[in-house]
Amino acid sequence: AKEDGRNTYRFYHNTMGEQGLRRLTLQTELRQALVKQQLFIQYQPQLDLRTGRVVGAEALLRWRHPTEGLISPAEFIPAAEANGMIIPISNWLLRTVCQQAMAWRKQGMAPLVVAVNCSALQFRQGDLVAEVTQALADSGLPAHLLELELTESMLLQDSERVMQIISRLKALGVKLSIDDFGTGYSNMAYLKRFAVDKLKIDQSFVKGIARNADDEAIVQSIITLAHSFNLKAIAEGVEDYATADILLARSCDEVQGYCYAKALDPDAFLDFSLSNQKT
Ligand code: C2E
Ligand code: CA
Ligand code: CA
Ligand code: CA
Repeated sequence: AKEDGRNTYRFYHNTMGEQGLRRLTLQTELRQALVKQQLFIQYQPQLDLRTGRVVGAEALLRWRHPTEGLISPAEFIPAAEANGMIIPISNWLLRTVCQQAMAWRKQGMAPLVVAVNCSALQFRQGDLVAEVTQALADSGLPAHLLELELTESMLLQDSERVMQIISRLKALGVKLSIDDFGTGYSNMAYLKRFAVDKLKIDQSFVKGIARNADDEAIVQSIITLAHSFNLKAIAEGVEDYATADILLARSCDEVQGYCYAKALDPDAFLDFSLSNQKT
């Protein structure tokens, strides 16, 4: 029986290949990453397109691995979802972001909305509403200055439960946005059911608008859709002013992208905002 076990183990290794092995290793190491303080948060500015003012910050998770260096969240978030670590990590992030927002205000930054990415697992397990309530209470951050970024697929799972969580979050007064909008489902009936505040146009459409008529048409229709539901539209992945000019002409409300700033450490974000406030 022992022999069999070993063969099976080897068999898995062979079929999983390098990718699967790395994923498993990351999953194991992620369990320690939080307590070992290898995780940190950067903040990417979000600007009002018409005034040029910083109005928000998206919190983006970072993992400085002791031997591998910086690992992309695109790689380790799926691993954290697979082993459930995304729940304690997200709860830590939520608290830290709310406290950071209050610390910035004491340092002279004008009030801004901090946006946090949500994982589908937070809707299925754990108590997202209790965690949000606690993070707001502990930090003193007003609820309307916290935004949760959801994805279309989250809103389309088990609708009873999702609906309840969303309405409790709305009752708290937090803002909700739909991330990567346009990449998910063509059925937009859920926009009617869930009172979200903002649509984030996926960067895959934004990137091409200066060159591609199809992308421009998609971006235009998302902005129109947002406004017809009284929602704001934000474009992410804005990398140049030609793109920003088109977005402005198309009445997009907010922008986020390398054209303005990449994700910054808290101190650098403070500097960025303070100099933005002065101009
Ligand atoms: P996302 O939420 O769509 O975040 C936007 C990503 O685009 C970020 O990558 C950001 O750095 C990048 N980006 C921003 N502006 C530009 C630009 O002008 N050009 C280009 N090429 N890229 C730009 P990042 O930080 O690597 O995050 C990747 C994804 O990881 C995020 O996509 C999000 O889905 C996930 N993620 C990050 N932090 C968290 C978190 O705290 N919780 C959860 N659940 N997911 C997270
Ligand atoms: Ca996001
Ligand atoms: Ca996005
Ligand atoms: Ca994305």
